[in-house]
Amino acid sequence: MINNHLSYLVEDQPLTHLEASAPERKNQWRPLSGDSFNFGTLHPPIWVRFDIANVSLTDHLWLLEVGWPLLERVQVFQFNHTTQHWSSEMSAGIRAPMDQRAVLHHHFLFPLSLLFNERATVYIRVECRMALFLTLDVWRNRTFWLEDQQRILLLGLFFGILLIMVLYNLALYIITKDRNYLFYVMYAVAILFYELAGTGIGGRYLWDDSPWLRYMGYVLFACISFLAATIFTREFLSLKRYGGWLLQLNNVILVYWLILTLSCAWGDNPLLDYTSQLAAMLSPVAAMLTGIYLWIKGNVQAKHYTIAYSFLDVGTIVLMLGLSGIVPRGPLTEYGQMVGFVLQFVLLSLSLADRINRERREREEAQRVALDLSRKISQTHEEKLMIQEQILEIQRRANEELDVRVLDRTNELERAMKNLELANKELSKLSYTDPLTRVHNRRYFDRILSGEIRRAARTQQPVSVAIADIDHFKQINEVHGHLIGDECLRLVAKTLGQQLGRTGDFIARYGGEEFAFILPATVQENAMIVADRARSAVESLNFINAGKRIGISVSIGVAGWIPKQDEAPHRLLHAADRALQEAKHNGRNKAVAAN
Ligand code: GH3
Ligand code: MG
Ligand code: MG
Repeated sequence: MINNHLSYLVEDQPLTHLEASAPERKNQWRPLSGDSFNFGTLHPPIWVRFDIANVSLTDHLWLLEVGWPLLERVQVFQFNHTTQHWSSEMSAGIRAPMDQRAVLHHHFLFPLSLLFNERATVYIRVECRMALFLTLDVWRNRTFWLEDQQRILLLGLFFGILLIMVLYNLALYIITKDRNYLFYVMYAVAILFYELAGTGIGGRYLWDDSPWLRYMGYVLFACISFLAATIFTREFLSLKRYGGWLLQLNNVILVYWLILTLSCAWGDNPLLDYTSQLAAMLSPVAAMLTGIYLWIKGNVQAKHYTIAYSFLDVGTIVLMLGLSGIVPRGPLTEYGQMVGFVLQFVLLSLSLADRINRERREREEAQRVALDLSRKISQTHEEKLMIQEQILEIQRRANEELDVRVLDRTNELERAMKNLELANKELSKLSYTDPLTRVHNRRYFDRILSGEIRRAARTQQPVSVAIADIDHFKQINEVHGHLIGDECLRLVAKTLGQQLGRTGDFIARYGGEEFAFILPATVQENAMIVADRARSAVESLNFINAGKRIGISVSIGVAGWIPKQDEAPHRLLHAADRALQEAKHNGRNKAVAAN
């Protein structure tokens, strides 16, 4: 219905519709093409005009829809060429409340009425301080409302999905206390309000009463959305953990959007005017860069994040292209960004849910490791206890063995000591015993004799000695052999010993076949009696060899007196020896006393 002859005029001074349409301004109008335009920011009010003609028999009522939620004031004037009449002025825009609009609708709608074959020119005056996009649609009245039902249904669907995501993640935040969910919710709520403002639904139903929100709502919620997105990114990608330029970039963007959000309190301001558009383009680029960089570094969350954001970015780009008139407008340009948001939030929510899974797996893994570790520790502990027990057992056994061994050794030692004692006794016995005859030897005899003589001298008692010599012993050896001679010596020694009855009496082997007696406290006469008894005992021995008796006899010399002090023992012996010589000399087998 709109013909191609669209044109626009930029006001150099405030104009009425009559002035703008005056013939003298004809040259100031510039042509336009398409049905959407981007006029940029900060400019004076703009006039747009186009011609319409009704070729429909049935429809007389049309609706002009002027797009872009930031339009402060839109005035529409219709000049009917057929009737040469101006219809009354209609206006809408975010500066004025809803009830002043010609059509009560969240979009800017203006009814145009034309009868069949009538022609008219429509003049639209637009005031918009901020970025000005303009889209124009002329609808058949019936078609618009049919279409509108579908649009509202889709909007309801969009807000419904967003609301569900908000509530679901809010519930997750309440349950898990994980701040990721909180920031997700904040971000989603911000987008919800941004879209409420963008679609006009918010102005229509929520904040029509607040001139400030009506005017600033869209910008304010856009700033809050960027701020919330930046905070969400920071937490979702754990930028604090990475630090470096990633965190610094996020810090800068965060502070910028925070300041911008706060600046909205003052309404229009230079920051908003001059920086917000560029920042709105750069922030998503920074977000994508961060996501891709961390994705490359192997961050799974960053992968989800980047994919989720690319949906939104594509949707936003499609919307901007449609608004700028670069691509023809259609459902894709109209709903592209919303679909982008839905996909983004669903994907981010899935990623967060996946995070729960991942964390649960990690927790389970950590628990398993901890359990393993504690099991190992207790095992090690048990092993240690066992080893300690074994060591104790070994020690106990070793101690027992040691005790036994010590006991054994002690016994052995005692036995050895006893043996040694016995051996010593034996040895000392041997040292004063003659090995052949088992009577005392000459050395012991000499010791005893000198002792007896000293005692006798002290007590003035007599002491006697006797020396007995076997007669013709050489012959016995020669005739019967030395073994028989030895036997004979033993027999004589035994026999002589048996004759000594008193304690203190003493016999020793004095030489080869000579024996000597000591008879303490015995006078010479009594000693002679003993000597003769001994001689007689030897004489009567029955010494048999090879069936023949061998006759044995001894000669004995006896000497005895009371010794003087310090008398030498050999005096008694000499005297006895001399008496022995005399006995030999007088025919042997005799006892002779010294004189
Ligand atoms: P007499 O009557 O004059 O004493 O004659 P005799 O043969 O006994 O003389 P003599 O004293 O010369 O001989 C001692 C002999 O005793 C010499 C030696 O062979 C022998 N005789 C000395 N000691 C031992 C001994 O231990 N065993 C044996 N079988 N003979 C011994
Ligand atoms: Mg002799
Ligand atoms: Mg002899």
